Amino acid sequence: MVQSDLSQSSAATSLNRMVSLIAGNPELEIVVPSILKEFLQATNANASFYLLFDEPRDVFVDGIEETELPEDEDLSSLVSALSPGFHAGIDIPATLKSRFENWHIAPIFYKKRIVAALGLLYTSSTTLSDAVTQAVSPLVDCLTIVTHSARTEARHARQIHNQNEFVRIVSHDLRSPLTSIKGFASMLESMGELGERQLHFVEKILAGVTQMTSLVDNIQDAGRYDPETGFYEMERVPTDLVEMVRNIVKNHLVPAEKQELKVVVTTGSDVPIVLVDPTMLERSIINLVDNAIKYTPNGGRIEVGVKKEQDTIIISVADNGYGISEEHLRRLFQRHYRIRRREHNRVKGIGLGLFIVRSVARRHGGDAFVESVEGSGSTFGIRIPLAGENLLGNNAPASPA
Ligand code: ADP
Repeated sequence: MVQSDLSQSSAATSLNRMVSLIAGNPELEIVVPSILKEFLQATNANASFYLLFDEPRDVFVDGIEETELPEDEDLSSLVSALSPGFHAGIDIPATLKSRFENWHIAPIFYKKRIVAALGLLYTSSTTLSDAVTQAVSPLVDCLTIVTHSARTEARHARQIHNQNEFVRIVSHDLRSPLTSIKGFASMLESMGELGERQLHFVEKILAGVTQMTSLVDNIQDAGRYDPETGFYEMERVPTDLVEMVRNIVKNHLVPAEKQELKVVVTTGSDVPIVLVDPTMLERSIINLVDNAIKYTPNGGRIEVGVKKEQDTIIISVADNGYGISEEHLRRLFQRHYRIRRREHNRVKGIGLGLFIVRSVARRHGGDAFVESVEGSGSTFGIRIPLAGENLLGNNAPASPA
């Protein structure tokens, strides 16, 4: 028996449906069941299956139970020698014989390798006419596209996972030797037995270790705080941001004074206690204050502020330093973005500080911002909405932890 030909317009409608489905959500779980249904309708098959052999293995069935399918190895070796397109006349495997009389099978390729098999099963001896085979071939292409996209995404997720693991292990293992170098160098410095030259060298060691520690911290935090791929679990605690900002500034007075910078704090009187992750927020405010110190020439002024504006808390760090030209502003918060300028040459960094600031703000439902005029100074900051999880609920303790 030969299939009746599909009308061109119904094939086109079916293809349109699938393309817009894929464009809307190219996930296998969403698209493949619909494509299998389209196949059944277009080819009058009684059942269909789509088996992805490749890791992660996946199987989709329509009109047949997964348990009725042949073993993966058998199917995979059966299709391994096939060319693209539908194949008829291949002996139907024993497991399918009890219910089906005939089948058509098509291999699906990913980078020239067969990664999946599509099967159409018939309870009678139906064969696909050339016209029908031609009409459904765009559906095979749809399957191929969605398989590519799923596989690429899976590979990307694996790479991100490996990269996160690498960063986690390396930053953890670097931290203990750094801590001990810092400890012993500090002891040497405070022994009071060193000559001027020796003391100078120890100070160099300490400055280097401090710089490395901050790099390692930034590499680690950039990975774990990333709103898309970070694995850090937020720990929300009732937090007094005014007190946090004052403490951070107090701890930065020495490096600021070394550069003859004046640092002032301005705080609103109505800033409420919020339920945020203090470790994350502290890290991002420290990055902003560090930057203001790094990118403001001697004799400058830095103003750190916390205020409530309608339903938002705004933490800002303003300086009258080098400033930033318009073309860089849009990209500043991207991972590893740095501006190459003569004035910045003495400043070490790997462009992760502002990425961390934005990640922290976003994970609190807010965002980071910058306003700057080249040559006059910059204001960086974060906005935290006074809404949702950031609000101190009725169950939370009344005072800051
Ligand atoms: P880095 O570790 O390189 O400082 P950041 O992500 O903290 O990385 O900053 C990215 C870039 O933004 C810096 O290279 C610098 O050019 C610019 N920048 C950051 N803060 C300031 C500031 N307060 N004034 C001028 N430029 C700044």
